[in-house]
Amino acid sequence: MEMKKWKDTAGHKLGCPYIGITLVGTAEEMARHHSGYCPGCNVRVKWEEKKQEPENAVGQS
Ligand SMILES: [Zn+2]
Repeated sequence: MEMKKWKDTAGHKLGCPYIGITLVGTAEEMARHHSGYCPGCNVRVKWEEKKQEPENAVGQS
């Protein structure tokens, strides 16, 4: 199972503590445990896979 980073893209209401959170998990976990409605403001949650940039392009001297 591949672990991925997920970015929340739902249109949360102002002051909702879940705005812009990032979770790590498999696609199946996300669908099973993190679907439905936001417990903070009751909008339908929406996850978008966060592409990871390769981080090994730093300072070779
Ligand atoms: Zn919310």
